Amino acid sequence: MTSADVLILGGGSGGYACALRSAELGLSVILIDKDKLGGTCLHRGCIPTKALLHAAEIADSSRESENFGVKTTFEGIDMPKVNEYRDGVVARLYKGLQGLVKSRDVTFVEGEGKLVGPNTIEVNGVTYTGKNVVLATGSYAKSIPGLDISGRIMTSDQALNLDYVPKSVIVLGGGVIGVEFASVWKSFGSDVTIVEGLPHLVPNEDESVSKALERAYRKRGINFILGTKFASATQSDAGVEVTLEDGKVLNAELLLVAVGRGANTANMGFEENGVATDRGWVPVNERLATNVPGIFAVGDITPGLQLAHRGFQHGIFVAEEIAGLNPIVIDDINIPKVTYCEPEVASVGMNEVEARAAFGDNVNVYEYNLGGNGKSQILGTAGFIKLIAQKDGPVVGIHMVGSRVGEQIGEAQLIVNWEAHPEDVATLIHAHPTQNEAMGEAHLALAGKPLHAHA
Ligand SMILES: Cc1cc2nc3c(=O)[nH]c(=O)nc-3n(C[C@H](O)[C@H](O)[C@H](O)COP(=O)(O)OP(=O)(O)OC[C@H]3O[C@@H](n4cnc5c(N)ncnc54)[C@H](O)[C@@H]3O)c2cc1C
Repeated sequence: MTSADVLILGGGSGGYACALRSAELGLSVILIDKDKLGGTCLHRGCIPTKALLHAAEIADSSRESENFGVKTTFEGIDMPKVNEYRDGVVARLYKGLQGLVKSRDVTFVEGEGKLVGPNTIEVNGVTYTGKNVVLATGSYAKSIPGLDISGRIMTSDQALNLDYVPKSVIVLGGGVIGVEFASVWKSFGSDVTIVEGLPHLVPNEDESVSKALERAYRKRGINFILGTKFASATQSDAGVEVTLEDGKVLNAELLLVAVGRGANTANMGFEENGVATDRGWVPVNERLATNVPGIFAVGDITPGLQLAHRGFQHGIFVAEEIAGLNPIVIDDINIPKVTYCEPEVASVGMNEVEARAAFGDNVNVYEYNLGGNGKSQILGTAGFIKLIAQKDGPVVGIHMVGSRVGEQIGEAQLIVNWEAHPEDVATLIHAHPTQNEAMGEAHLALAGKPLHAHA
């Protein structure tokens, strides 16, 4: 098949979700990818990193087991074995995804595609046409001008392939990817230093959460330097030397460059065929349409949050839009975010600064300390759940930090997206003893009837 209702360039989270939903809706689909179906998330992103973080958690548990009266001996990390476990997880999911795509009669074309007309993509000399075209070519790990990625200087792509635990690492960038790798390596026994140019780690989160993570990292012995910019780096057989703008010099075995991801759109014929781009990104309207009629863009190539579940939702949205189902617009602010470091960070909706900018003094804020939560005491984690609500109005933001709080994001996003008021949630029952109870307790308190908390 060389022509279809929906022609998709890129088989990552955004592209394959669009393919699956389009097929479900009875549309014919061609899905093109130059690499493995599943894209960054499955092969180089979410899944492999979370497998490493799980191995890291087991390392911490075995080290700390005596605190719980369990005698174990932590003997170290067998990195090839960790990688084998991680690759097994990826391989099973990859096989499942290939099966899904096949079972829905999606035509998968392997090869590098280029837009050669508003509804035509060329792959290896063959042209494919679509009544609708969906661009989903994702993102790549950026570096800093003058900082070449090679040898001991690497991005997450190379870091994921290491078959040893480095003795020491400098992590450039304290965003999501930087703090997650820092967390893994510390648990695996590396000496880690994060360098972040902005004043806080995870600078896109509510400041109170960033500060709590910084406290936790300090306690874990993860070093970080904030508000200081990188100047240069050199490498030799012995290691990497990094100089900061304030003149400070740091040395380590490796340097991880985690300074963000750029849109993967160069040399793909987008601009030549009239698709507007902005510093590489493909701007879209709220219905994910580009400036060229019939061409949509989804996932990381569109400006905004770079998250797999945003890509999935974009893909589903565009399929339904093409099928004429008039889907509900996706608002980035209400997309849940989880950073899977130890302790975890999770949030949805506005942070306090954004809420005060939008509603002035008409905002109620409540922070429920996990110290009052039985299950968190059992796990031995500190942290909190912070609620931000409009006065006499809905909850507009939920921000959490603590071990395993990512698991609470499901209810948090329902509360914010369904515009629940604290009193609505306060009437619902949260099982005891779970960490989820803290969500209930926070809403009870904000509704004016705290149980295991002070008003
Ligand atoms: C280390 C790391 C950890 C992450 N962890 C998380 C997480 O825990 N949770 C989360 O939600 N997100 C996470 N992300 C982000 C997530 O991976 C991305 O947001 C998601 O993969 C974006 O999906 P996408 O479909 O837009 O692009 P991608 O997944 O990048 O897919 C794009 C696809 O397009 C293909 N392609 C590109 N150009 C062409 C071409 N010319 N021809 C043919 N094919 C082409 C590529 O081969 C690729 O398969 C992480 C990312 C990284 C790097």
